[in-house]
Formats: sequence, structure tokens, C-alpha cells
Amino acid sequence: MLAVRYYGIRDVRIEVLPRPVCGPKEVLVKVAYAGICGSDLHIYRKGMFVSTVPETMGHEFSGVVEEVGPGVTGFKPGDHVVGDPRVACGSCPWCRQGKENICPELSFIGEICPGCFAEYLVLNEEHLLKLPSSLELDRAALIEPLAVALHAAGKAGLSSRETLGIIGAGPVGLLTLLAARPLVEQILVVDRAPVRLELARRLGADRVAQTLPEEPSEQVDVVIEAVGAEATLKGALKLLKPGGRLILAGLYEESVLVDPNPILEKELKIYGINAYERLDLEKAVQAAASGQVDVTPLISRILPLKSAAEAFELLTSPAPDVLKILFNPAGF
Ligand SMILES: [Zn+2]
Ligand SMILES: [Zn+2]
Repeated sequence: MLAVRYYGIRDVRIEVLPRPVCGPKEVLVKVAYAGICGSDLHIYRKGMFVSTVPETMGHEFSGVVEEVGPGVTGFKPGDHVVGDPRVACGSCPWCRQGKENICPELSFIGEICPGCFAEYLVLNEEHLLKLPSSLELDRAALIEPLAVALHAAGKAGLSSRETLGIIGAGPVGLLTLLAARPLVEQILVVDRAPVRLELARRLGADRVAQTLPEEPSEQVDVVIEAVGAEATLKGALKLLKPGGRLILAGLYEESVLVDPNPILEKELKIYGINAYERLDLEKAVQAAASGQVDVTPLISRILPLKSAAEAFELLTSPAPDVLKILFNPAGF
């Protein structure tokens, strides 16, 4: 089978690998659609997170069960599935509370074991969720980033009278917009790329801006910072009203220098978010299947695995005009 493997910074290669075989409690999944995530770009650009090299990349996918191993009870061939790609220790105090997302050992498929940028992958059945038939497989590939957005919106504790600012209109920013839209009165989205702002408008943003507003009259109650850069963190602290809340949802590739005094002076509260809990994934399946959240406009392109290098270059260009790129390894 074909697979996209990470060999080093800006070095991904298409290789032919043997099709994996499922052991006890494991399921062989034929990958239908697999999305390139922001964290795949951190791996590609900086070599972050990945602990085995070379490794088959990717953790966002939908697929069809091809075979099941001995002892599998929850799945049968033909089932449509999405993955819970988190790999946690399972025994620390946080894992035991269902908060595997803050397990000190947390990693993901595609970083510590083979991921989904391949025609097939094998996972323990605990890492799969069954999809209802009403949800198409292409949309289902966005369940995992939608779970991140639901987790961020949940952490923000939004209430209907509040105003929300989302900095960064990439997939997580825009999915957070969709998740938060029914919860708050006013949403402002800030991004450098006009194409992304146009999409933010279509998805329900009340206001969009290419630069961070500086006037106190434009301040908001809650900011979700989905970029992870010095300028956007500084901008977020400025954009918040006194007593406001900041949700950090964008990973930083390097340390930043920020004046912390606004945090004290305005008594801001800051929350970090890391991935999602299992419940967020289940909610994401429900929200996408019921049509409550339509992720379709975020899918910019569907490409074969052999276009991986081109896809990574496109997404790491300075102001990409594409949003979510999906691979369709099995030609769906
Ligand atoms: Zn992801
Ligand atoms: Zn743990």
C-alpha cells in the first residue's frame, strides 16, 4: 500500500509498505479521507512532536472497516468509522478521569506509531468511533478538528450576551466559529488572508478584520487565539475587555516575549486547551451528522497521497488560500 512518511524537516516521501495486519482487539481500516492538520505542519516545518522517524504521518481520518481481529466486539467489516488518534498512558490520574488530553505521555498516531496518510491503518478498537449513515465520509474527516473546536468553545464557557474574538481563521479558528455561533451574540474574526475572512463571513462571523483592532470600543469578552505567535498573543491581550477570558488554542513553534501586565491590570483569565476529550469527539460526530454544524465549506481540496509534498508546501506558504486539504488514499 502507499503511505506518506516523514523523514525529516520538509522531507516527506511516498513509499510502498506492506498492508498492516490486525492482531487481537485490532481493526484494519481502509482510509477514505485523511486531513492535514496544523500539527502535521509543525512536524513538517520544525520536526515537532514526532518521536519515530521515518513514520507514516496523519491522525485525522474517516474510513471503512476492512477486517477485524480476534476479540473485537464493537465493529464489523463495512462499518464507517473515524479515529480517536490520541495515544495516552491510560494509567495516570488524568487518564483515569477521562482527561487523556492532558496525560503527560500524550501523543498521537502519525507521531509515535503509524498514522492515516496511507491506504490502510490498524488500530485498537478503542481508537475508533462508529459513524451514523447520515454522515458522508469526506465531512467525517473533519470530526477530529471539530472536536478541538468544541473543546475550545466549551472551555471558553460562552454565554449569549458575550462578544467573542477569534484570532486566526485556519481550520481550528473557523470550526470554533461554527461551534460558538449558536452560543454568543457577536463574533469578530481576525486573519491576514482575505480568502479566509470571506469564508468566515459566510460561516456567520458578524465582523472580520485583517489587522487586530486596537480601540477599547472594539474589545471583546472572550478571545480564542488560534495562531500561536507573539503578535497574535499580544493582540489578544489588547483585544480583551477588563475581566475577559483568553483561550490559547494555537501551538507556538517558539518562545515569545509578552508584557504580562495587561493580564494583571485587566484581571484576565487564561485557559490552555490541548486536543479534546472523548466526549468532544462524540459531540462532534453528533453535530456533524445532525447537520447542526456543516464543515463542507472548509474542505478546499481533495488530493491523492502522491501529491503530499505539494499539499504540505501549499499549506506552509506565507498566506495560504487553501484551508483543509484531504487526501483520498483509497480513491473514494
Ligand atoms: Zn488534528
Ligand atoms: Zn495518562
